[in-house]
Amino acid sequence: MDSQPQSFISRQFSNRNAASAFWKLMHKVAVVAGATHVMFLGLFYGLGAHSLAWVNLGSVFLFGTSYLCLKHRLNLLAVSLIVAEILAHAVLAVRAIGWDSGFHYYLLVMVPIVVISQMKIRAFKQVLISTVLALYVGMDYTLRDLVPYDHVSTQTLAALRYFNIAVTFLLLTYLSNIYLKLVTKAEKDLRVLATTDPLTHLLNRRSLMEVAEYELVQRRRNHAPLAFVLADIDHFKGINDEYGHAAGDTVLTAVSQLLRQALREQDSVARWGGEEFLILMPNATLEMASTVAERLRQQIAAIEVPFEGQQIKVSMTFGVSCHHDDESIEAPVNRADTALYKGKLSGRNQVVAEVA
Ligand code: GH3
Ligand code: MG
Ligand code: MG
Repeated sequence: MDSQPQSFISRQFSNRNAASAFWKLMHKVAVVAGATHVMFLGLFYGLGAHSLAWVNLGSVFLFGTSYLCLKHRLNLLAVSLIVAEILAHAVLAVRAIGWDSGFHYYLLVMVPIVVISQMKIRAFKQVLISTVLALYVGMDYTLRDLVPYDHVSTQTLAALRYFNIAVTFLLLTYLSNIYLKLVTKAEKDLRVLATTDPLTHLLNRRSLMEVAEYELVQRRRNHAPLAFVLADIDHFKGINDEYGHAAGDTVLTAVSQLLRQALREQDSVARWGGEEFLILMPNATLEMASTVAERLRQQIAAIEVPFEGQQIKVSMTFGVSCHHDDESIEAPVNRADTALYKGKLSGRNQVVAEVA
């Protein structure tokens, strides 16, 4: 696969992940905010702030509706309701019990929500944030000195303000944390996507080459041997033709698992091509690597891969080589390939070592 479609797929993949994380976050926002407003409803009614209690009843209704919209994938409608609720609640609460209640601080929470959101048009985010800013300043200018509708004692007002400041801090911390988690997960997913083969979960060609380069540097320092084993499934085309492509994929997965489990921790194994695998064995001589390859060959030949009630027999041919001083990585890989080719010509299902 060339780098163009790879980067396209990576982009789609991380976008999809980020989008689903955002909508999960919105589900949580709707539930937590709805529950908080039920609590507020009782509190304000108890405090005698009856008009504010009505506002909270409206909030509970809006969050409930937005939750249902999210469940039915009416995402845009849901977010519009959540945004409308935050804005309306801030304005009405400040108007009802006064500026000192601190309900306008919740407008600040809109900023990270808009930034994290999956809006395609970036300018739209800037317009939204500017609107929130204008509303905040506008509220400050028009509502700060108005006499509130409901009378609430100074102590209660102060307690409410501190509570609202604390909740705003909590929400900002929570949202920043969500964003951090989102970025960390996207990074991890992309790293896995860039270094492994999606079908077999083995290393891909490029990351094995990176490991090999690293091992080569080690070898230059300690002169320890470094062996390469190239392994290819025999008559794989025949397996695809006889049992179908999905069966071929199952065989590839089974063979990959066996190779990974049978090798030492320090060995690396990659899907080198379609049905070809390259194993890198640090600190292994040609003889040692040939012995390991022979053991692998026997294990592969002994298994039968189950697929839709059928048992598929598999065999592999192995070419083994060792790195010589001052040569590139490609040289031993090419010699392993030549040895493998000899094995194919002389009947397959065997291990052939390079001529030392
Ligand atoms: P030989 O014993 O000489 O290696 O013969 P072969 O049939 O194994 O080799 P050949 O190169 O003729 O065919 C390899 C086949 O592997 C052809 C290709 O369609 C198939 N293949 C490559 N990648 C995949 C894959 O990801 N899944 C499946 N199912 N088949 C694949
Ligand atoms: Mg083959
Ligand atoms: Mg092949």
